[in-house]
Amino acid sequence: MTERVILGVWLDVPLRAAFSYLHDSPLPDGTRVKVAFGPREMCGVIDNSIPPPAVATDKLKPILAVLDELPPLPALLLEQVQFAARYYLHPVGQALFTALPTSLREARPVRQADHHVYQLSAQGLARPPAARSTVKTLLWQALQQPLGREALRQLHPQAGSYLKAGLASGDITALPWQPAALRVEGALPLNAQQEAARSSVAAALGSFAAFLLHGITGSGKTEVYLQLIAQVLAAGRQVLVIIPEINLTPQLIDRFARRFPATGIACLHSGLSDGERLQGWLDAWQGRAGIVIGTRLAVFTPLPQLGLVIVDEEHDGSFKQHDGLRYHARDLAVWRAHRQQVPVLLGSATPSLETVANVEAGRYRKLVLDQRAHDGASLPQIGLLDVRRQKLDDGLAPEVIAALRQRLARREMSLVFINRRGYSPVLACTDCGWTSACRHCSARMVLHLSARQLRCHHCGAQQRIPVQCPDCGNPDIKPLGEGTQRLEAALQRLLPEARILRIDRDSTSTKAAWDSIYQRVHSGQVDILVGTQMLAKGHDFGALSLVVVLGSDGGLYSADFRASERLFAQLMQVAGRAGRAGVPGHVVIQTQWPDHPLYLALQQHDFDGFAASQLAERREAGFPPAAYQILLRADAPAYADAEQFLQAVLQQLGAPPDGITVFGPAPALMARLAGRERAQLTLESTARAALHGWLRAELPTIEALARKASRQLRWSLDVDPLEL
Ligand code: ADP
Ligand code: ZN
Ligand code: ZN
Repeated sequence: MTERVILGVWLDVPLRAAFSYLHDSPLPDGTRVKVAFGPREMCGVIDNSIPPPAVATDKLKPILAVLDELPPLPALLLEQVQFAARYYLHPVGQALFTALPTSLREARPVRQADHHVYQLSAQGLARPPAARSTVKTLLWQALQQPLGREALRQLHPQAGSYLKAGLASGDITALPWQPAALRVEGALPLNAQQEAARSSVAAALGSFAAFLLHGITGSGKTEVYLQLIAQVLAAGRQVLVIIPEINLTPQLIDRFARRFPATGIACLHSGLSDGERLQGWLDAWQGRAGIVIGTRLAVFTPLPQLGLVIVDEEHDGSFKQHDGLRYHARDLAVWRAHRQQVPVLLGSATPSLETVANVEAGRYRKLVLDQRAHDGASLPQIGLLDVRRQKLDDGLAPEVIAALRQRLARREMSLVFINRRGYSPVLACTDCGWTSACRHCSARMVLHLSARQLRCHHCGAQQRIPVQCPDCGNPDIKPLGEGTQRLEAALQRLLPEARILRIDRDSTSTKAAWDSIYQRVHSGQVDILVGTQMLAKGHDFGALSLVVVLGSDGGLYSADFRASERLFAQLMQVAGRAGRAGVPGHVVIQTQWPDHPLYLALQQHDFDGFAASQLAERREAGFPPAAYQILLRADAPAYADAEQFLQAVLQQLGAPPDGITVFGPAPALMARLAGRERAQLTLESTARAALHGWLRAELPTIEALARKASRQLRWSLDVDPLEL
C-alpha cells in the first residue's frame, strides 16, 4: 500500500471539531474535497493546521475526490472565517460554509467559466472564408476585434465550433482577460464639505483607518463614495461596498454602472441564482470585478486587491445575521479593512451608538455633511401634536385629517408612517407619565395579558398588573402604541377621493413590484403613501409636503433599550423625506408625550445631542456599547423546557468570574415565536475578552447539557445581540 497522509477537513456540520481523512498526497489549505460523512457525501475544505486525530490511521476514511479546477480558497478567507467563528462562538466548519456561495458548499466540482477573449491570428486574417459561407464570414469579420465567448455565441449559435476549429488550426488565438481602461462618467463637482470628506479618506488610502461619514439624507454621501471609488479603481485596486438588502435597488446599481461603464461590478445578494452568485464571487476573487456591491453576506467576498471598504447606512439592523453564524457585517467589514490595511468608510444619517462611541473613543474619525447637496431644501419643520385630550378617529387626530385634506386639495403628496417595530406592550399612565419600570434593572416590564402579569425580560422579575397608576392613582393606565391596524381603511373612509398606496414587505418583494411603485409615485398617481419601516430606508419617493407619524410613542418606553435609538433614526429618516427645493416640508408627530426629550431633540434636528444623552443613559445602566453582551437563547414548545435547560446551564457554570454578570433565565422580548417559547440568559461585562474567554471555555459544558436536554430544545449563542 502506498504511503498516505492525514489531512484535516472542515465540514458543514454543527460540531466544533474538525475531521481527518486520508489522501495519497498532501493538499494545500483551502482545497475543496469530497468526503463521506456517515451515509452522506459532503464537501469539505482542507486545513493543514488541524491537528491529527488520536484514533488509529486505519480507522480514517479516504478523501473521495478533489473537487475543483479552481485554485484553493484564499488563505485570507479562511482567516476571516476563523476569526468570525472564534468571535461569535460558532463552529468553524459551519462558519466557513456560511461564507461560501451555495455552489461552493456542495460536493460537486465548479467549472471555471471561460474569460478569454479571442481574435484572429495573422494567419487567420490572411485566410478569409469562402464568400458563400455567410456564417463563417460573419464570425471571421467579428473576430478581427477581440471578443469573449459569450459575445460570439450571441452573434451565432455555431460560434462554439467555429472557435474550436480556429483554435486548432491556429487561425484564432486566445488572449487572457484584460481589464478595460477605467472610464469615469458624470462625476459632480463636490461642495466644500464633500471635498473635505473625500480628501480625508483619500489621504488614508494604503493603510487602515476607520471613518464615520455622518451626512444627512441627500447630503451627497454616495457622490463622495463614487469619487473615492474612482480613485481606488484608478490605482488598480478593488472596492467592497456593503449596503442593506432593501437599498440594493436597480436604481443604485445603475448609478454605479453609469459612473463606471467599463468596470466590472459584481452584485452579491440573496436574491441571485446560485450560478450568478458564484460568478460574481469568482469575478471578485479573480480580479475581474473592480467593485463588489452587496448585502451583509458580501463581507466574505475575496478581494485580493482590496483598496477601500464602504458600509452605507451603517446603523442598519439588517447587517446582523439572525441565525446560524450571527455575525455583524459592519464589524466584520472593519476587521477586513484592518486585516488588508485599507480604509473603511461607514456612512449614515443616523449612526449607531456603537459607532458614535467609537468616534468618541478616537477609534473612528468623523466626517460631517450637514447640507443637502442638490436642491438646497431646508430641514423640515417638526410639529408635536399632543393627542392626550383629543378624540381620535381610528387613531387619527382631527388636525392630522385636516392637514392631509389640505395637501390633497393642493395635489401634494403626503406620507403616513406607522411605527410598529420596537413596540412591546409597556404599561403607561396617561396622566403623570408613569411607566412600568422594573425595580431590579433599568429595563421596563412588559405586559403579558394571557398570564395577567408584568414581566421583566432582562432579569425575569414578575408582578401582577396594577389596577391604577402606582404614582398618581389614575385608573386609566394602558399599553402604549395601540390602534394602528385599521389605518389604511380609515384613511380611505375619511378621504375617499385620495389615491392611497400602501408600501410594506409584501408590496415590495419583487423588482417588478418596486418598479411599479416607483412608477406610480413619480408620475403623480399617488396622494398618500402609507407604510411602516420600509419608508424609513433611504428610498427616493420624490417631494413630500407632509409626513405624519403615528404610533411612535411605543418606541419611547419599550422594554428593549435600543428602541429609542431605532425610533430616533427612523423618525429622522422619514422626516428627511419631507420638503423640496426652497420649500421646507412639514412633519406632524401624534404623541401623548409632547415633552419627551427624544421628540425635542428631533424637533431641533439634534442627532449629536440625542446620541450623547443616550450614550450617557447606556453607560449609567451598563448597557451596550458601554458593556458587551452575549445571549444564550433556548426555545422549546413548552417554556418550562427552555427555562429548565438554562437553569441547568446556570448551575453548571457556577459563579461567573469577577466583572461578569448573568441575568435570567427570562423570557425573550418576543416570548413566543412560531409556536415555540423562548427564554434567555444575558451575560454582560465591560471586559469583552474576559466575557468571551469564559464562555468559550464553558462551551463544552453547555453542549453536554444540551445533549441531555429534551429533544425539542434548540439553543444558540448571540454575541453582540441586537434583538433581545
Ligand atoms: P446621499 O447618499 O447622502 O443620500 P447622494 O449622493 O445620493 O446623497 O446625493 C443626493 C442628490 O444630490 C443626488 O441627486 C446627487 O446627484 C446630488 N448631488 C450630490 N452631490 C452633489 C454635488 N456636489 N453637486 C450637485 N449635486 C449633487
Ligand atoms: Zn400616573
Ligand atoms: Zn428586571
